[in-house]
Amino acid sequence: MNQKRHTSHQRRKENSRQQTTQIKSAVVPFAGPKLLLQDGREKSLQRRHPWIFTGAVERLEGNPASGDTVQVCDAQGGFLAWAAYNSQSQICARVWSWQADEKIDADFFLRKISSALAARKELKLDRHSNGMRLIHGESDGLPGLIVDQYADVLVLQLGSAGAERWRETFADALQELCKPVCIYERSDSDGRELEGLPKRNEILRGKLPEQLSVTENGIRIVVDVAAGQKTGFYLDQRDNRALIGSLAEGRDVLNCFCYTGGFSLYALRGGAKSVLSIDSSAEALQLAQRNVELNGLDASRAEWQDKDVFEALRKLRDQNRKFDLIVLDPPKFAPTAAFAEKASRAYKDINLLGFKLLRPGGILATYSCSGGISDDLFQKIIAGAALDAGVDAQIVHKVHAAADHPVLLSFPEGAYLKGLVLRVAG
Ligand code: SAH
Repeated sequence: MNQKRHTSHQRRKENSRQQTTQIKSAVVPFAGPKLLLQDGREKSLQRRHPWIFTGAVERLEGNPASGDTVQVCDAQGGFLAWAAYNSQSQICARVWSWQADEKIDADFFLRKISSALAARKELKLDRHSNGMRLIHGESDGLPGLIVDQYADVLVLQLGSAGAERWRETFADALQELCKPVCIYERSDSDGRELEGLPKRNEILRGKLPEQLSVTENGIRIVVDVAAGQKTGFYLDQRDNRALIGSLAEGRDVLNCFCYTGGFSLYALRGGAKSVLSIDSSAEALQLAQRNVELNGLDASRAEWQDKDVFEALRKLRDQNRKFDLIVLDPPKFAPTAAFAEKASRAYKDINLLGFKLLRPGGILATYSCSGGISDDLFQKIIAGAALDAGVDAQIVHKVHAAADHPVLLSFPEGAYLKGLVLRVAG
């Protein structure tokens, strides 16, 4: 038996060796610029991770401008990928395609965009909302390109030099495939600076309707694509908002970092006894209250506080206020792992206070959208907070972003949003 196992193990090893030899790829003739990697640094590309860091590069041949397509080669000159070059960023190239015979042109992008749209149709993601992420960057094979749909308006966010280079091509393809009344560009995320790109916030095509809203699981939500956060709304939390709505009946709810009221609207519709919502953005709170009205929800059960959550939670603790369901959905405390330590303290702080404000048997729904905090680390932080708060808690749901934010297996960085729904002991 052992012998047999050993033999099949050996056979597997041989096979994988053969595969590696096959991967040692052919030289593909190309007159344009080439990025040659140091020996051994081709491995992450062979695993299909789409980023190339400056530290992995042996030399650049040719003189590409930022955004131009380069051929990425291993140390022997063998073909690895086609990628968009960026002289300004630590991530000096992002892969468009792993196929040697691919041509990176308008037709290529039309096909890629069509297939991202088709995937969402096949998964029937438009069943629950007319607000949806249509293209999720790297995870849809289009590094740096985010496209969100809000009814018949599309919002485009470009986060890399490669995406920037093909801006008009993307707009043409989206216009042809989706026929929106407007394509709005919200290329003003902080990541643009790291890529050496200027910020842009303007109409790219068409005309923006005076008032724009989406209907998500039957709830209407006004979206301000020009001045709102991200591209206007947090589409990624759609399923998690629905879950909270289903748990809210008869409960006193506290929604921290409420933005335009997402979780609060679901809780009110779900029959919450009261909902206290806190955010430090006065504009967001105004929209939130408009959303309550728009949905004919009972405003007398809703209380709003324009405050810093860290301070507000302490005040609520000092006032001895108690809740049955608490939502903590803070902004990105750790954009990268470098911020993890400081962010961990902030997560622990609000979660500890959250646990303390819960009645026995209460529910804490806590999220992190920080790419720099892993699922494991997040769970550890929450466990530490419960311990310090002196409560026993069980995880009843482990949640992530909705399915229109898919995660490519070869790009785990795409799994930025994580959440735990916990029940504290009664
Ligand atoms: N839960 C929301 C999204 C939350 S986004 C939804 O489902 O739509 C994070 C929110 O935190 C933003 O609205 C931002 O204005 C707010 N915010 C950031 N820092 C804050 C702080 N220290 N105190 C209160 N609100 C804060």
